[in-house]
Amino acid sequence: MSNAKILFLGTGTSEGVPRISCLIDKNKSCEVCSDSVKINSKNRRRNTSILIQHKNKNIIIDAGKTFYDSSLNFFPKNNVTSIDGLIITHAHADAIGGLDDLRDWTNNTQKNIQVYLREIDYKVVDKMFFYLTKKEYFSRGGVAKLNFNIITSKTFEIENIKFTPIPVFHGKTNTIFGYKFGQTAYISDVSEIPESSKNYLYDLELLIIDALRPKKTHGTHFTLEQAIEKIKYFRPKKALLTNATHDIHHSKVNKKLEKLSSINLDVSYAHDGLIEEVFID
Ligand SMILES: [Zn+2]
Ligand SMILES: [Zn+2]
Repeated sequence: MSNAKILFLGTGTSEGVPRISCLIDKNKSCEVCSDSVKINSKNRRRNTSILIQHKNKNIIIDAGKTFYDSSLNFFPKNNVTSIDGLIITHAHADAIGGLDDLRDWTNNTQKNIQVYLREIDYKVVDKMFFYLTKKEYFSRGGVAKLNFNIITSKTFEIENIKFTPIPVFHGKTNTIFGYKFGQTAYISDVSEIPESSKNYLYDLELLIIDALRPKKTHGTHFTLEQAIEKIKYFRPKKALLTNATHDIHHSKVNKKLEKLSSINLDVSYAHDGLIEEVFID
């Protein structure tokens, strides 16, 4: 067993927090967005993503629209000087929108980046970023040099860490991959956990799970209540919530979640920049 650090690069929904519309609102009625622009505010949320740092190697799950801002804020101060693997959960813009920004790495830091994704997601990347998937564009310089590795639901290994895909629903018909590594499970976007994936979620040290906001959902994400219901069912040692909208006031909601300690649950919203230590076997 060895230690790894999980660095939260983003804990917010696709549009991020703050919403610009809240900032330009004359009445300034959104407390969360108003707070989020203060330095080091825990209400500032970039697109949901984590970085796993293990033995000086860095593996990232998802690089969305705010990847540049996440790296600007957290890479230098956490000594992230290489990207040794990028795993994609699904091909929505908040998970792949930052692929273009990897050009700085492959122009100036390392030759190429290994990207791990499903065939179905590769096809979307191929459409959205046609210049990143075709070798003829590489020679013109400037573009990120990415090596795409197609994954299935089988366990795969990057830098001695085993990742097991956890297929979950993100909407009625759309499935995405969560991932289990060590005794940690990361499920960034989920509306339902199919029976066949439940086995991966017992006896966890840490469960990181989607909890968009209280009560309302478009049917593609867990609400806070649904996430808590699952946490009560699977009973991980610790649960960190992510993918939150501006409906979540970090310190106020976490204060309420503290009450769950009375039934021996450790649940709180993560925040951008949070570092959590876990074991990797
Ligand atoms: Zn707002
Ligand atoms: Zn999505």
